[in-house]
Amino acid sequence: MPYEVTLLRTIYERTDGYCHICHCKLSFKNYASLGNRGSWEVEHSRPRACGGTDHRNNLFPACIRCNRDKSDFTTRTARKWNGTSRAPYSKAVKGKMRDDNAAAGGILGGLFGLAGGPVGVAFGAAVGAAIGRSIKPPKV
Ligand SMILES: [Zn+2]
Repeated sequence: MPYEVTLLRTIYERTDGYCHICHCKLSFKNYASLGNRGSWEVEHSRPRACGGTDHRNNLFPACIRCNRDKSDFTTRTARKWNGTSRAPYSKAVKGKMRDDNAAAGGILGGLFGLAGGPVGVAFGAAVGAAIGRSIKPPKV
């Protein structure tokens, strides 16, 4: 079944363009383009054979190898083969995590800075926020 480009884009961005099973990078333009770098397909997390639907909540981007290997196995099983346990984060989620880290780092840095007076607080907060922002979201 062909997918509309906007739906493909939505599915692709769910994981920021990474295979939801093995987490390898996919190339949006190589959709269904077997043999090309980053080629991918729409994968039904719950297989249609097992009652999975075409609702986009059930659709994930997967590299063609993963999609074919997974066949009618569960997503949990296929991810286990690849040492992963969940889908990669979307760009929006990753950005939110960085903001949270920056906020937490700012507070922590500010507390440390208390020892240095008002200037210490500002300096500590700035350093803490920078460190917090630089923390990468955890690998999943
Ligand atoms: Zn894959």
